[in-house]
Amino acid sequence: MMNTNDKAFLTQFLETPKQIAIIPHRNPDGDALGSCLGLYHVLKQLNHTVKVLAPNEFPEFISWLPATNEILIFEKNFDTCAAFLQGSDLVFTLDFNALHRAGDQMGSYLEKLRKPFVMIDHHQMPDNYAKVTISDTSFGSTCELLYRFLQELNLQKYINVEVATCIYTGIVTDSGSFKFVKTTGDTHRVVAELIDLGVDNPKIHSMLFNTSSYNQLQLVGRALQQLKVLPNHSTAYTYLTQDDLNQFHYQKGDTEGIVNYGLSIKGIDFAAIFIENKEEGMIKISFRSEGEFDVNEFARTFFNGGGHINAAGGKSFISLQETILKFETIINEINKQ
Ligand code: 5GP
Ligand code: MN
Repeated sequence: MMNTNDKAFLTQFLETPKQIAIIPHRNPDGDALGSCLGLYHVLKQLNHTVKVLAPNEFPEFISWLPATNEILIFEKNFDTCAAFLQGSDLVFTLDFNALHRAGDQMGSYLEKLRKPFVMIDHHQMPDNYAKVTISDTSFGSTCELLYRFLQELNLQKYINVEVATCIYTGIVTDSGSFKFVKTTGDTHRVVAELIDLGVDNPKIHSMLFNTSSYNQLQLVGRALQQLKVLPNHSTAYTYLTQDDLNQFHYQKGDTEGIVNYGLSIKGIDFAAIFIENKEEGMIKISFRSEGEFDVNEFARTFFNGGGHINAAGGKSFISLQETILKFETIINEINKQ
C-alpha cells in the first residue's frame, strides 16, 4: 500500500510534534469528514497541533461526529485557515484526488501552497501534487484505507472509540451500508474490529439515516415524482429546481442518496440527479450505475466531473433544462452497453 520510502518518511516525520492540516473535499460526505476526523483524533494523541480545515460547511447528518466543533471552514474563516496552513509542516488531503476538488477558492490556494502534501484517497486517476500519494481504488472508502494506513504505520493502538466511530461512519456511508461492490471480506473484518472497539453501530445508523425532517422527505417525494425513465437506455434520472429546494427549506445533505432511487427500478442500471444551485450558478449532478457502465468516465467526459466507476458527480454551467437536454442527447448518442 505504501512504499518503504513513504513509510520511513511518515514514521520519522510523526515522531516529533508537528503542525498538521487535514482537508476533505468540498461538500464533504461521511467518508471525507469521517476520515479527516479519524486521522485528527489519532494525530492529537501523538501530540501534534492538528486542525481539520473543510472548504465549506458539512451537512447536518454527520455533524455529530466527534470534534466537528473544532473544524474550521476555509470559505468562512479564510484568515485563520490561511495562517494555519502557512504554519503547517504537512497537509493531508483526504477522500479526493485533485486539488480543485477542494473548490475554486481553497483549491487555488492549495495549488500555490508550498507545503508537502499527503493524499489518502480511493478515487480514480489521482493528480500528482502530493509528496506521498496513497491512492487505491480497490477500497470502497477512504476510511477503510485510513484504517490500513494507520496499521501500516504502527498507529493502530491509537484507534480508540472516537477514531473507530469516524472510520465506521465513512465505511457505512461510502458502501451504502455494506452493499456496494467494493464491500469485501476485509471491509467486514475492519468493521468487526471497530465494533469490538466499542462503536455503537445501531446508533450510528440511526443518526445517519433516521434523522430526516418532514420537509426532507417531501423533497425526496418531489424528486421521485419528477423521475423520468428511459427504458431503451436502462436509464432513469430526476431533478430538483431551486424552487423545489426552497419550497422544502433545503438544508445541506437533504438530497444525499436520492439518486439511488433510480437504480431501484427493475431493469435500470444508470441513474442521475440534476440539482439546480442558483447561488453557485451551476447544476450539480450525481451519477450512479450498477455493473459495467463507468460513470466516472461519463462524468469526466461530459460533465466536468469524476469519481468512481459506479458513483460519480459533475457540474454543468448551462441551465437545468439545457443540462437535461444535453444529457438525453448524449444518452441517445452513446451506446451505453
Ligand atoms: P456524489 O454524487 O455523492 O456527490 O459523489 C459521488 C462520487 O463522485 C464521490 O466519490 C465524489 O467524491 C465524486 N464527485 C462528486 N462530484 C464530483 C465532481 O464534481 N468532480 C469529481 N472529480 N468528483 C466528484
Ligand atoms: Mn469516499
